[in-house]
Amino acid sequence: MNIKALYREELTDLCDPAYRADQILQWIYAKQAGSFDEMTNLPAAFRQKLAADFQLNAVHALKTRNATDTTEKFLFQLHDHSLIETVLIPATPGLTTQSDRHTVCVSTQVGCAYGCKFCASGLEGVKRNLTAAEIVDQVLHVQKLSGERVSNIVVMGMGEPLANYDNLMRALRIINAPWALGIGARKITVSTVGIVPRIRQFADEPMQLRLAVSLHGATDEVREKIMPVNKKYPLKELLAACDYYVNTKHRMMTFEYILIDGVNDTLDQARILGAIGRQLRAKVNLIPYNPVEGLSWKRPTRDRCKAFQHALKTHGVTATLRMEKGTDINAACGQLRLQHERNLSTPNTV
Ligand code: SF4
Repeated sequence: MNIKALYREELTDLCDPAYRADQILQWIYAKQAGSFDEMTNLPAAFRQKLAADFQLNAVHALKTRNATDTTEKFLFQLHDHSLIETVLIPATPGLTTQSDRHTVCVSTQVGCAYGCKFCASGLEGVKRNLTAAEIVDQVLHVQKLSGERVSNIVVMGMGEPLANYDNLMRALRIINAPWALGIGARKITVSTVGIVPRIRQFADEPMQLRLAVSLHGATDEVREKIMPVNKKYPLKELLAACDYYVNTKHRMMTFEYILIDGVNDTLDQARILGAIGRQLRAKVNLIPYNPVEGLSWKRPTRDRCKAFQHALKTHGVTATLRMEKGTDINAACGQLRLQHERNLSTPNTV
């Protein structure tokens, strides 16, 4: 068992005397200890017992890559040698409104089953869910390796978060807890392809977590070309679940919309998206498509992106055109991991 998957009360139940639990939590989350041996105010025999009973590290950094815009990308290896990616984004226009933040984009699965047509993570299917400890430890390791205090979390990395619901929620409760990372629920955004029953369950959670839905098409016909999940949960059902979230939480939500040249970037789509956004009082993040090796789609021109944004604004919808961050380090979801695995399986590649 990994100790970072435990709630404070669970760890307290396992400790004798009980106050040892708070000492351990201090070492893990405040002092970011890398081994039980570093926990020097615990008796040596107790440390040995901890090391025998628990794992402390759930991820291991294989490499980090800096982009010119200060985005930093981490490739982590797990205990079964699976690879996942995590990205540190110093500022994310469109995701939050402050400018002095450090946002970590975390992964929730190894690979992904949803096969969105623009995404490298879905190319080879899903291997497994991440454990709660593997999700929490991405944030801790990024914080330790970068030396930056993480202020915001976006769950938008590899995998579909709501397909790993129980582990995700456990991890987010730990990330939010004052005895652990203490990151406010309003600073945590979970992004989904639109798993309708899970969106409703998410809306009923007591934590005030933010919701972002990857829309990428304003009609079923267009969305189905990009997102196979739309066949299972068509727009009518998805938008009803979004409406349930907005009315249950009394919070704004966000739609993510990747603009793909000639596929979903017509002014007709903008008009329909504008009507959806206005009805749900949702914000729209527009993201120019980031080309993926092996896929033929292209990014629209800057003018075309601007025209789409303008059309949304004329409908009274707040729409940001996200400036790309990290394109030179393969920041598009899943690309660094795929490249690393291909390099390993190609004998002549350095
Ligand atoms: S965009 Fe997200 S949900 Fe879609 S295939 Fe990629 S990782 Fe999966």
